[in-house]
Amino acid sequence: MAQRCIFCGKELGFFNRDDTLCGGVTQPTCSECYKTLRDLGQKERGERALATGRAVDPEEIAANIQREEQKEQAAQERQEKARQVLRTGQTCLRCGGPMEKYGTKLFHLGDEGLMGPVARDGLFASWLEADVIRCAQCGRAEFYLPEPPKIPSEPAEEQVTCPVCGTEHSSLSGCPTCALNWARGRRPAETRREKEKKPPWEG
Ligand SMILES: [Zn+2]
Ligand SMILES: [Zn+2]
Ligand SMILES: [Zn+2]
Repeated sequence: MAQRCIFCGKELGFFNRDDTLCGGVTQPTCSECYKTLRDLGQKERGERALATGRAVDPEEIAANIQREEQKEQAAQERQEKARQVLRTGQTCLRCGGPMEKYGTKLFHLGDEGLMGPVARDGLFASWLEADVIRCAQCGRAEFYLPEPPKIPSEPAEEQVTCPVCGTEHSSLSGCPTCALNWARGRRPAETRREKEKKPPWEG
């Protein structure tokens, strides 16, 4: 009696036979059924073969599928464990996905540091190591920087010379000397004018 394709039941001749390994066991299949199976994995093929009720050595197929599933589960658990180590407990600000540790990145701090122009006065190291975390869902990354070094307290103010009295003062405020003189009623310009107004006999 001629063998039949376990999937479609068609009788298998010399030219339309294409045996297929399903779940680790070779099954007699026709060329058409082979084409529908060839892109599938062994597990899926085995399940389909078992579903026909006509599979060759179904116990072997079932055992192979079970072994395959255990392997998949173990791999999944390993992956899950690996993920747990990466967990940060933070969620992505963009998509809400879990933020995972990604490693560290070295930033070079030259004259233009992360905090703006930085004088090379020893307050900043040349390299800064920052922790990077990354969203497992969308890839958005965040940096965590170590405690910042003491930033030079005040930005250097530009000093200007008062054109009236010659006092050096900050460009951010008016001349303090002139302000004081005004308050005391001694306006430099008036002082000079008063001198000029003096009658000659008083000179
Ligand atoms: Zn077939
Ligand atoms: Zn995200
Ligand atoms: Zn002044």
